Amino acid sequence: MEENSQATQNHPVSRVDITLPADADGKSHVVSTFRYGEPGARPKVYMQAGLHADEFPGMLALRCLRDLLDDAAARGRIIGEIVLVPQANPIGLTQHGDGFLLGRYDEETGGNFNRDYPDLARMIGDTLAGQLGADPAANVATIRTAMRAALDAWSPSTTVDALRRTLLTLAIDADLVFDLHADNDALKHMYVGTKLWPDAIDVASETDMRAVLLAEVSGGNPFDEACSGPWWTLSQRYPDAAIPPACLAATLELGSNNDVDLRDAEDEAAALYRVLERRGVVTGPTDAEPPRLRCEATSLTAMEQVKAPVTGLVAYRLRLGDSVRAGDVVATIIDPLGDSVDVEATTDGLLFARHNQTYAWPGKIIGKIAGVAPLETRQEGQPLLSD
Ligand SMILES: [Zn+2]
Repeated sequence: MEENSQATQNHPVSRVDITLPADADGKSHVVSTFRYGEPGARPKVYMQAGLHADEFPGMLALRCLRDLLDDAAARGRIIGEIVLVPQANPIGLTQHGDGFLLGRYDEETGGNFNRDYPDLARMIGDTLAGQLGADPAANVATIRTAMRAALDAWSPSTTVDALRRTLLTLAIDADLVFDLHADNDALKHMYVGTKLWPDAIDVASETDMRAVLLAEVSGGNPFDEACSGPWWTLSQRYPDAAIPPACLAATLELGSNNDVDLRDAEDEAAALYRVLERRGVVTGPTDAEPPRLRCEATSLTAMEQVKAPVTGLVAYRLRLGDSVRAGDVVATIIDPLGDSVDVEATTDGLLFARHNQTYAWPGKIIGKIAGVAPLETRQEGQPLLSD
């Protein structure tokens, strides 16, 4: 991997382009990063957008955040280190079909770009034996060093794994990691580790999340859990050592995939900036009461994925943001040539996501409901996210 820095002398902001090894077709892809503050300064924050390359609002939010951070840097207000990757998936950005950008699955391997990140707790677990003690700060440093060494030693055999390694290497030693996504047609919602709640409540309330889904293991090893999960996994493995959850990583779903709205993006950038102030990454107020969070955090095992039982047109009977009771009809699937079937919710909660292509087939997820009561069909460790 080749790094190409375009920092101007004495300027506190730098752009560093990282070239990935060429893919099977001989194409090279570049991951562009924007860096603020002194390397090694704390807290370190890493934010990326567009890991699913067809999810746009986060890309614009980070573009707007750069304006705020450029200004903060010019005023000497950056305390920590900030790394922004506004387009985290240059491979996905080259994948078009039928006039649409695709970018959720890698064409070469078929894999989802936000799954199958390496399990660093497993990779470094044995090497930590005898190295950890009662000092949490020392343990954090030891574990971060081991994680970086494990990523350095990993030789990816595919371009998409080289991308995974690059992104994870940028993020793995950060105190805060925000992976900006969007859902098909959705209200803002957030996925975060159970152990990170309620610590992450300011992130959710500043960004005005309407659902917060908690899991320790959501299945499939997404990016945020590759950063945060090793801390609690290692804490379970070494219960006598003081291992804090040292990386607050969250997936922020900033609405619908195609939301490209300057005013919304400016609001989101301002919200992320306030989080940076609160967390002491940039100078600013740290003690103001965060805004009220407009939802309760609920377990990801209580989130119903509403699935179509048959093929047909999807006529939604409920809108995003509607409160749902078990038995309510979420949608009617209509066969243009025949019958109609009502699809009922099986839990109480809030309908926060729908699908924007209103045609379904058996098993297609056409809605998501943030419920309160864990569902028997959903257990931690199974794949709880949509593929
Ligand atoms: Zn996504």
